[in-house]
Amino acid sequence: MNQIIKYDCIIVGTGPAGLGAAFKLINEKPGMKILMLDKSNYSTGGLRNDCKMNFTYPIGFTQGNWEKEEAEYYMDQVEAILNPDLMDKKNIDVYEKRASSLGVELLNIRQSHLGTDGGLALIKKLCAQLESLGIEFSLGNEAQQVLPEGKILKTAKGEYEYGSLIIAPGRQGFNFLQKVMKDLDIYYIDNIVDIGIRVETRLDHYPIVKDYYDPKFHFPGKVRTFCTNSGNAHVVQEKYKTHDGKDFYSVNGHAWSKQKKGENGLVNFAMLKTIRLTAPLASGHNYAEIIGLQAALLGGGKPIMQRVGDFRLSKRSYDHSFNDDYYDFEPTLKSCSPGDIALAMPSKIMRAIWKSMKQLDTIIPGVLHPSTIMYYPEIKMYANKPEFKDRHFAVKEDIYMIGDGAGTSRGITGAWASGIRAAEGILQ
Ligand SMILES: Cc1cc2nc3c(=O)[nH]c(=O)nc-3n(C[C@H](O)[C@H](O)[C@H](O)COP(=O)(O)OP(=O)(O)OC[C@H]3O[C@@H](n4cnc5c(N)ncnc54)[C@H](O)[C@@H]3O)c2cc1C
Repeated sequence: MNQIIKYDCIIVGTGPAGLGAAFKLINEKPGMKILMLDKSNYSTGGLRNDCKMNFTYPIGFTQGNWEKEEAEYYMDQVEAILNPDLMDKKNIDVYEKRASSLGVELLNIRQSHLGTDGGLALIKKLCAQLESLGIEFSLGNEAQQVLPEGKILKTAKGEYEYGSLIIAPGRQGFNFLQKVMKDLDIYYIDNIVDIGIRVETRLDHYPIVKDYYDPKFHFPGKVRTFCTNSGNAHVVQEKYKTHDGKDFYSVNGHAWSKQKKGENGLVNFAMLKTIRLTAPLASGHNYAEIIGLQAALLGGGKPIMQRVGDFRLSKRSYDHSFNDDYYDFEPTLKSCSPGDIALAMPSKIMRAIWKSMKQLDTIIPGVLHPSTIMYYPEIKMYANKPEFKDRHFAVKEDIYMIGDGAGTSRGITGAWASGIRAAEGILQ
């Protein structure tokens, strides 16, 4: 019979939330026996994808969990470990003035950007540091169940006993988190979801990115720009499974660093609307699944893409809309189906996003060029909100839930800060 190994702390997930917790614990209490688990062979979140980091509240921090002073206190600690190379911004007052005349807010955020390749190098460096401090890693090992008795975590590779357990499985770990909450009888709500499109256009049509890498515009109607990528920018797709095993996709974006890969002359960013559901529909996740399935149905099992020129004329896009002869660039995500987003997206969301796009085009003329591509759907499911027992994100004695999956963050720095806060709870 396999012997069950006991750890002082087990951390599920090697994303920024898990890493933030690990650094805090091992630095404050050297010699602590810590295991970090990941179902993948590497951290799969935003540290690996584009890795732009925002160091200004409230970006990346979720409402209700963080006061400004508190977030800033933790952000200083995040900054001290990550030591980011912050980027300069130019002409912000010009954009701010144009935006505010339309009732739009432009947030002035301190940012750094490593690119996908730079992010990978950072992950390797951070994990090597933790290993040298004595932390054990078990990669390719999926956490499956937290037993209600005996402080046991069951994984694909065996069973482990924990003193404390930090669960930080990110958005991809949504279903695992929900299972743990159901098994352990932890009350949670899941009523918020962000739904929208990813916009891809030529750099010349969205030149603000030369002045401000990831400009954060907040529009009336709870619409915002999110996760802007340029340099060597690509739109990608992520596969998700519904609770009953059906596949659907969300698009996303990232960029390779231009120093390594050269520029491709394109920009992409998300336009997302936050949907807060109320009774009788309580599950944002279920709603998002249905939205994802509807898009997949209309896209023949793939996400949908449409040129702005076609959308404006209420026409679907076709294959020939996507050669560089007809318009002036080809899509970077070729596995999408040309189609009609208006058939797939609920009209309340579509109207709010299109109105915001028009405002954006007034602030930065050109972004609604007919060649601009809209990809659908982009879905952010960070809506599992467990009922926390304390300010360290404890959900039960010795069990903590943090990061994007548990709704304590919406970005790398907020996730990392959540990890520090949970670690403080354990250290106390
Ligand atoms: C394509 C993409 C680009 C992004 N770009 C940015 C960006 O540039 N800047 C930014 O601030 N944010 C970005 N984000 C968001 C960012 O990734 C998240 O906010 C952040 O990574 C959340 O950290 P986390 O630790 O909660 O989760 P994650 O980083 O997602 O890490 C969770 C880890 O847990 C693992 N895991 C999941 N389930 C299990 C399980 N059952 N057992 C074991 N391991 C499990 C996963 O494999 C993963 O490695 C991006 C996200 C994506 C998907």
